[in-house]
Amino acid sequence: MPYPSLVRRKPRDRGESASAPNAKPDGRPPSRAMEEQRELLDRISSFVLKHDLTVTSANMAAVCGALSGANAQLAEAFAQREIAGEPIDQRWLDTIVRLDPGTNDRMSELEKLMDRLEYSLMRFTQTAKSAQDETSDSREALGAQIDAIADATRAVRNPASTQVDMADVIQLSRAMLTRIEQVENAMERSQAETQELRANLAKARTEADVDHLTKLPNRRAFERRFASAASEARTKGEPLCVAFCDVDHFKSVNDTHGHDAGDRILTAIASTLNEIANDECFVSRHGGEEFVLLFYGLGKEAAWRKLDGVRRVMARKTLMNRETGKPFGKITFSGGIAEVTEDTDSRSALSRADAALYEAKSSGRNRIIAV
Ligand code: GH3
Ligand code: MG
Ligand code: MG
Repeated sequence: MPYPSLVRRKPRDRGESASAPNAKPDGRPPSRAMEEQRELLDRISSFVLKHDLTVTSANMAAVCGALSGANAQLAEAFAQREIAGEPIDQRWLDTIVRLDPGTNDRMSELEKLMDRLEYSLMRFTQTAKSAQDETSDSREALGAQIDAIADATRAVRNPASTQVDMADVIQLSRAMLTRIEQVENAMERSQAETQELRANLAKARTEADVDHLTKLPNRRAFERRFASAASEARTKGEPLCVAFCDVDHFKSVNDTHGHDAGDRILTAIASTLNEIANDECFVSRHGGEEFVLLFYGLGKEAAWRKLDGVRRVMARKTLMNRETGKPFGKITFSGGIAEVTEDTDSRSALSRADAALYEAKSSGRNRIIAV
């Protein structure tokens, strides 16, 4: 049995006393919030099983969004699909998730947050720097004054009582000087920490754009590229094409060879696709076993030739499973291309590319169709 530790056992199996169902480990009844979480989890798993969807993080997140009410648009799309009696299958869900504009909203929220954090850090650095400069000026001025007082005191002949007073003043001033130096050091340290924080933030921004498995730019990076490339293409009056690619029968690869082997295949496909990445071509992993490309300055025939070239390279390869030494068999992908500048709304080009991919799949796979 897979993952036996995840199978829920009855309390008596473990020799525990019977307590209320779903009770917490301390025997107390679960809170209302906990009950609701459990109920949501049950609904998500029933939904995934009922519609024969694969258990992937993307699917679970999408279904959770719809069933929890966080993604009202997706909930509405599910409801309409059910009313129309049409299946909520993997292909349809992939399409919906691929074209979900809500993802952009969520990404731009994150972007704004990062911008705000960076701005606050910049302001803090500026304030700290000017405070540090002022402290440093005061320290120098105070130091010079102490030295002047000390010199003057030594120069005065026999003013016994004055010398006593001046010695106190000098001692007090030296204590102040030490304190200022301490504050200055603390500020320097905090400035160094702030710089480190900014460097970490810049690193997080870069990492947030990279897919960890294939190291290709991810969907987030694509969305930003897509928006800027589309507006640039319109301004310059140059063509721009978008292509969706999806690995053929990938589920059976996973089923036959296991998920880790599937991951290695995805990495191999990513690097084959990435061979055509250059100033004219942006290659990214859109999620799962799907990739999305942008062809700058190329019309759909030229983009088709480029992508079909990679498809042929991939179809000729024989990938081996290095764990078993057995071949994986032919691994192919299908693709759909649309010219972005043919639409006034750039996002509808994504729908056309998706429809072209669907056509490539239904007409036999291992082919690229441009619309
Ligand atoms: P089709 O030719 O119609 O595209 O068939 P398919 O089997 O490729 O399509 P389907 O969408 O039904 O299955 C895609 C599978 O991709 C489901 C999931 O198990 C797998 N998958 C998605 N992401 C990953 C991943 O990161 N690693 C691995 N190993 N598998 C993944
Ligand atoms: Mg797919
Ligand atoms: Mg597929």
